[in-house]
Amino acid sequence: MKVRRPLPWRSERSPYATLVAEVMLQQTQAAVVIPYFERWLKRFPTVVDLAWADEATVLKHWEGLGYYSRAKNLHAAAKKITEEFGGEFPDSEEALRSIRGIGPYTVGALLSFAFQKRIPAIDGNVTRVISRLFQIEEDVGKTSVKASIEQHAYALLPDEEPYLVAESLIELGALVCKKRPLCSSCPLQNACLAHKHGVEHTLPMKRKAPPIKQLTRLVAVIQRGDELLLFSEKERRVMQGLYQFPYLEKGDMPAKEAFETHTGLKLTLAGVLDEVVHSFTRYRVTLLPFLFHTEEERAPKSLVWQKLDAIERLTFSSGHRQILKQWVEYETATA
Ligand code: SF4
Repeated sequence: MKVRRPLPWRSERSPYATLVAEVMLQQTQAAVVIPYFERWLKRFPTVVDLAWADEATVLKHWEGLGYYSRAKNLHAAAKKITEEFGGEFPDSEEALRSIRGIGPYTVGALLSFAFQKRIPAIDGNVTRVISRLFQIEEDVGKTSVKASIEQHAYALLPDEEPYLVAESLIELGALVCKKRPLCSSCPLQNACLAHKHGVEHTLPMKRKAPPIKQLTRLVAVIQRGDELLLFSEKERRVMQGLYQFPYLEKGDMPAKEAFETHTGLKLTLAGVLDEVVHSFTRYRVTLLPFLFHTEEERAPKSLVWQKLDAIERLTFSSGHRQILKQWVEYETATA
């Protein structure tokens, strides 16, 4: 049975396309990545095009994928490849590892898929398959266990067209040996030790993740004429280069009073938007957005007035982007 997914980065095996796909896939599912990948290659068709682009443009094209440090790392990698390697990807493990933003899995993926070397590319899918196939009953986050998984995966690769097997392991993990494994459809059923001993559901073993921290924040959309108040360029750097509205951790004080104290501006409450919930790393944040008007011209410390017509071109963090969208709909409905 042939089940290989026809993903666009598989028809375009250049090192650059492989790098873009692998970085996008790090925290995002393949189906979500496809349109972003295609748009990205149209806008930045080569590693040199990406290197020459300014950071705001790069982040704007990443908007919606989240985890913006990936876009920054990809940009930094493109610059290094352009400046130090003349725009040509090196094909040695050592040189690839020297490039910021190219981690061990991506190095494996580049060497395996783009340069077609006998090197395994070990992502979460392959880790799951190998840990079950060889019944590895230890924490797969441990360095020694990672090394053992890599050795097992390497041993499975043939000399001829090793990338086909490297890719098959990823496919097997993505489509068959999933969290709930479909062992009855698995071509490795007879060789699989975990299946033989009935322990496939207990593997891979992972250390318990730290608990998710819940945060509740008040967010102020403060309008004065045709301008909104946002964090300034300097503060933006602290927040991964993304724009945000002013916010405060929720306390006992009512929102208007809290933001008047925080900004020193005299505010008029003009409305309330729907709450927005978004998650990042180990935080789950509930944003409670309030609309305010003010007549005051000065911008409080760390904040800056931005013209409405320029705001659409700015890149926002995902929760604040949703608030901006709601605010635009609210303004249109009440205009
Ligand atoms: Fe995974 Fe089951 Fe196949 Fe083993 S037999 S590799 S547990 S799907």
